[in-house]
Amino acid sequence: AKLDIANAPQNGAGETSALAEKHLVQPWPVAGSIGAEARGAIESGDGIYVVDGEGRRLIDGPAGMWCVNVGHRRAELAEVLHDQAMALSYNSPWYTTNQPSAALAERLAAHAPGDLSHVFYTTGGSSAVETALRFMQFLNNVRGRPEKKLIVSRQGGYHGSTYLSASLNGRPRDHDWMDSATDQVAKLACPNPFRRPAGQSEAEFCDRLVEEFRALIEERGPERIGAFIAEPIMASGGVIVPPEGYLRRMRTLCSEHDILFIADEVVTAFGRLGEVFASKAVFGLEPDMITFAKGVTSGYFPLGGVMISSRLLESLRQSNHSDAMFAHGLTYSSHPIGCAVALRNLDILEDGLLDHVKAISGYFQKRLKSLESLPLVGEVRGMGLMACIECVADRVSNNPLTLDLEVGKRIDRHCQELGLLVRPLINMCVMSPPLTISTAQIGDMVAILDASIRRAMDELVREGLW
Ligand code: PMP
Repeated sequence: AKLDIANAPQNGAGETSALAEKHLVQPWPVAGSIGAEARGAIESGDGIYVVDGEGRRLIDGPAGMWCVNVGHRRAELAEVLHDQAMALSYNSPWYTTNQPSAALAERLAAHAPGDLSHVFYTTGGSSAVETALRFMQFLNNVRGRPEKKLIVSRQGGYHGSTYLSASLNGRPRDHDWMDSATDQVAKLACPNPFRRPAGQSEAEFCDRLVEEFRALIEERGPERIGAFIAEPIMASGGVIVPPEGYLRRMRTLCSEHDILFIADEVVTAFGRLGEVFASKAVFGLEPDMITFAKGVTSGYFPLGGVMISSRLLESLRQSNHSDAMFAHGLTYSSHPIGCAVALRNLDILEDGLLDHVKAISGYFQKRLKSLESLPLVGEVRGMGLMACIECVADRVSNNPLTLDLEVGKRIDRHCQELGLLVRPLINMCVMSPPLTISTAQIGDMVAILDASIRRAMDELVREGLW
């Protein structure tokens, strides 16, 4: 259907929302709104579109939660779900194995950089990160250096919602009311070039970030630091593309001090940046472990995992404690249905979709970048098919707009009225559409964003807030 911005219908809450409000504790609720917050229902999906409870067709701007990479309503994935459930719906990974998980492991190992030849499957991203961290702890216990466990993460990062993975998160709101394993984690600065100190070049900024890590290693002692974890591009933190060379230089520091580099590719893998894994192919980085989830099944089944270096596994086999047990496993590790779906999903990616992403990313970034002409927009940044629009108080100070102005939510509300779902993050809107998006659909997306940001600006001016 042709885009009709002027006559777009208004949003409303339907029956599903009311029922959910009555009985669901939804993720990330605010105390006062638990059991009293209507979230719009999504009834169906097709390609890059979803249909909400009002029957409105919306472009799925965030591809669910950065996950519906091959798009909605893929018959071949539905068939695999059905066929695998009929063949074998489940087997215990404690005592047995299954064909899809073994076949997928082989395919993943072929794509993974360096010697990341093995995979431990989990149920999603948080459990993948938790697994990588517990593996590091186990490894250092077995190697007779139980004090080498500190985990270094970054401000602005996001790694999950289990206790240890959540302790790594670097967004202030994640910790305001929640407990964390603060004694096990140290945080470095966010590598956000847009927010670098005034007068610093990007190269100098990069030097400072690497220097900060070097100082931390010196201060805490390399014998106490077990792992450094980083999303190659911070996703939920606002699509932060680090300065050139940053990841490789952090890797070098890790190698020098026997600190494991864990690349959290929960978002960046499976096509988001045009590659199955982005670490090496995009950033020239060879991590010791890679965590993945989301796009591995395009959200058709919950699955995650950790790619693990064979060198690490060999060191366990060679240790004095080769009888020690890695007492960690999930009922749904190696789930046959998830792995079967992931295999077919990988076929789709390899059969032209990765190439499509490589071909269309430049256009996607360029069109979104044009929104920087709007005075509310401080920066549009991104890579591949992930991008962030950051709104600022003014273009001179570039100060972020405060939470109470809810500018992200305002833009999202207008976008929904015009046919686009976005992911509002305080003063930012994040875009990561299904990878199948066409140039015409990118045009629609940008037109809706442009109109919505203009509406939000008018609204803020009318209310005397901006
Ligand atoms: N790591 C990253 C980089 C993520 O973006 C997320 C989820 N947004 C997670 C880990 C946690 O994944 P999950 O929600 O599947 O547990």
